[in-house]
Amino acid sequence: MTILPLQAATLAYKIRNSLYLNITNRCSNICIFCPKFKEYNLYGNDLLLKSEPSFEEVMSAIGEPVGIDEIVFCGFGESLLRLDLLVHIAKELKRRYNYRIRINTDGQANLVYGRNIIPDLVGLVDCISVSLNAPDAATYTRLCNTPFGADGFTGVCDFIRAAKQEIPYVIATAVNVPGVDMDKCRLLAESLGVSFRVRGFTSE
Ligand code: SF4
Repeated sequence: MTILPLQAATLAYKIRNSLYLNITNRCSNICIFCPKFKEYNLYGNDLLLKSEPSFEEVMSAIGEPVGIDEIVFCGFGESLLRLDLLVHIAKELKRRYNYRIRINTDGQANLVYGRNIIPDLVGLVDCISVSLNAPDAATYTRLCNTPFGADGFTGVCDFIRAAKQEIPYVIATAVNVPGVDMDKCRLLAESLGVSFRVRGFTSE
């Protein structure tokens, strides 16, 4: 049995066969449905970070994982805001293990960095799940409070298209907020060339 170090359930937490990594609490969006604005507890794990973890702290929290088949960058924060750390960890995980690596993201990273960051992830990341959340810019802006204005919605669509070109599996998701047309979200995702999944109100 793996003995997990102190704060392991904050930095690395297991749900079913996936190990989730919580490497920042910062976000590029401020989504109105995000549970973190009420509490940082998720399935009994306290995801509130006292400080942003280092490479060594994250690797220590991961330990020697057993009983999983994927490792997911997804906590109460946008992992791609720590792109250098994410790439460093993903490289080390690929060197040590054969687990699938997934990123759950709000899809704003190319706007944040002002460049296409997808090539940085090629060969390291097997799956990207992008929170599309809306079928149009007005709905996206209302739900996600993107600091990029109307560019935020265009940006998430462009990010999905760019990821689809270079990452083995890309999926768009939407939180099932009352009044948001999931069928339209699905149609948009399919028009961007990716599959679609409706999500509940958890960061998973
Ligand atoms: S839903 Fe995700 S992107 Fe939106 S505020 Fe919460 S953690 Fe950040």
